[in-house]
Amino acid sequence: MSKEIGADVPLIDHHCHGVMPEDLTLERFEDSLSEAFAPAPAGTSHWDKPVTLAIRRWCAPLLDLPKFAAPEDYVARRRELGAGTVNERFLRAAGFEALLVDSGNRPDELCSVEELGVIADVPAREVVRMESIAESTVESGAIGAAGYAEAFEAALRASLNDNVVGLKTVVAYRATLAIDYTPPGADEVTQAAGAWLAEAEKSGRARMTDAVLERHLMWLGADIAREKGYPVQFHIGIGDPDIELNKVDPSLLTPFLRAAEAWKFPITLLHCYPFHRHAGLIAENFPYVYFDVGFVQNWAGPSYQRIMDEALELAPFTKQLYSSDAFGLAELYYLGALRFRTSLARALGRWIDEDEMAAGEAARIVDLIGRSNARRIYPLGG
Ligand SMILES: [Zn+2]
Repeated sequence: MSKEIGADVPLIDHHCHGVMPEDLTLERFEDSLSEAFAPAPAGTSHWDKPVTLAIRRWCAPLLDLPKFAAPEDYVARRRELGAGTVNERFLRAAGFEALLVDSGNRPDELCSVEELGVIADVPAREVVRMESIAESTVESGAIGAAGYAEAFEAALRASLNDNVVGLKTVVAYRATLAIDYTPPGADEVTQAAGAWLAEAEKSGRARMTDAVLERHLMWLGADIAREKGYPVQFHIGIGDPDIELNKVDPSLLTPFLRAAEAWKFPITLLHCYPFHRHAGLIAENFPYVYFDVGFVQNWAGPSYQRIMDEALELAPFTKQLYSSDAFGLAELYYLGALRFRTSLARALGRWIDEDEMAAGEAARIVDLIGRSNARRIYPLGG
């Protein structure tokens, strides 16, 4: 019976990216199965990992293949159906109410926010990745160090169209979370911007990694979030190949969380693994902090259940959210939703079986975590 709990609740995936619109070769599909987006070491394959077991087991039937289809057969069938059909099948089978999409990570390879909404046949809203706006500002070449702060703020504000519902920062992957969190002075920002502009001119590429500029970005984001009623998303833990794992624990963010608390805007901690238990405790302690276990339920393959069980240990049911962090492959939107639904239903079903919870309460908890909490904190309207 546990599998049916909350099965009809449509999900709000509050952190995902666009899908790849073109047909994928076996090599391209395989490379997409790596967090490093790089080929597997010679003599090995990215198919030999937990996430691919899950794709072969749970996604193959949606392409009319037997479960556990061989990798070659799987990708051949994908090409036979065509990317358009494949993407629609997976995104429409996931049971979404809305998608909140990070538009700033390698957008050239992915469909747009609007296109993702059409593919999934649900509203797709945008979350603006602040570092991408700062990088475009520097790459425009039209500013000097003294004009950086003003130009960045103007560009960020200009990006906030009516479809935007939140901001995000990837400070954890750039300057790490082991930094000072006080707002930097104007002189400090100008000096750091000068060094960045010089480096960008030399390398021909602007990648924001400086801690002073990240602090400036975070506090500007806090200011705008409060003004517009946006949450600010923070990438935490797993989710990018350039992390230093010992410096992306959300407990390192505590000074910022404490200082930002009085500003009363929601902060959402994304994916969080392997620090999801820390994130749950932080969500319990700080009224404006939320968290999810996105990304990892896909990549953990058959071990997905333990992660949900741990996420449910401590945090209020009103503070957890759903995300897939799907990027590129349509399978990841579907599989993320399936894993979330199954693991939450199983955990709650077990509590009912063990007489820890009345059966009537389970559907409401699925609704809170799957959609209502996101609807409460993001300005989604209706
Ligand atoms: Zn992410």
